[in-house]
Amino acid sequence: MNSQFDGKVALITGGSSGIGLATAKLFAQRGAKVYITGRRQKELVEAVRDIGESATGIQGDVSVLADIDRVYQTIKQEKGRLDILFANAGVGAFAPLGQISEEHFDKQFDINVKGTLFTVQGALALMSAGGSIILNASLVSIKGNPAFSVYSATKAALRSFARNWAVDLQGKGIRVNAVSPGVVPTPGYHTSLGMTEQQLDDYIRSVTPAIPLGRTGTADEIAKAVAFLASDESSFITGIELFVDGGQGQI
Ligand code: NAD
Repeated sequence: MNSQFDGKVALITGGSSGIGLATAKLFAQRGAKVYITGRRQKELVEAVRDIGESATGIQGDVSVLADIDRVYQTIKQEKGRLDILFANAGVGAFAPLGQISEEHFDKQFDINVKGTLFTVQGALALMSAGGSIILNASLVSIKGNPAFSVYSATKAALRSFARNWAVDLQGKGIRVNAVSPGVVPTPGYHTSLGMTEQQLDDYIRSVTPAIPLGRTGTADEIAKAVAFLASDESSFITGIELFVDGGQGQI
């Protein structure tokens, strides 16, 4: 059994679904104490049950600074420190240029960019040398897609955060990297992007020819890459964007 995270304390935002949930399960299997956050209490409770007894759920919205504070107060009281942060919570939506509303812009930047920024900033008080921060960006940070400019810009911002924060954290022994998943079918395609099952099937069929490995990815495959960046296996890596995309962004 892999016990690479024995004794480690990890926080995963948006850990009740998709990539966050898969990562929380993997970290727990490998010995970590795992805190997950999410906006909806019911989903959070179900996810904690699914992950197992080493998981704790804390209800909170990453775009609300008071919620972030509450998350860190809980971790501070219970554990006194944080070793790994996976800033994963994020949402997407479609709107072509010409039809972008202020609400469309604000929601995605509030959750994806502002939420990630203050989640990471809040973590610093609990993190010391050896800590690892992973931001969930996206392949779209380097691509152009129809009606997806605002979401893509939020993810490009995260890629830039990783680069700049690696500099801000210089000498502290805390690493910060971005993971950029390609197409990974998760509940988010329905709940966040609003796709029907048929629309998702059509999308997968249309995009697969552009993926060298000839298929879409799984949340478990992203989780394994996040575990790599979270662990000492990547001890000399900081500031990077690791694409986990079947090669789609590399050709
Ligand atoms: P998902 O919808 O299944 O999971 C997203 C999680 O974030 C959910 O638990 C949701 O409740 C949570 N969340 C959303 N807004 C939140 C908020 N304001 N506060 C707290 N939690 C919030 O989707 P997923 O595909 O697992 O997405 C996870 C991350 O991966 C996102 O940042 C997404 O942009 C990124 N991503 C996904 C893909 C993909 O193809 N699935 C590709 C690239 C990047």
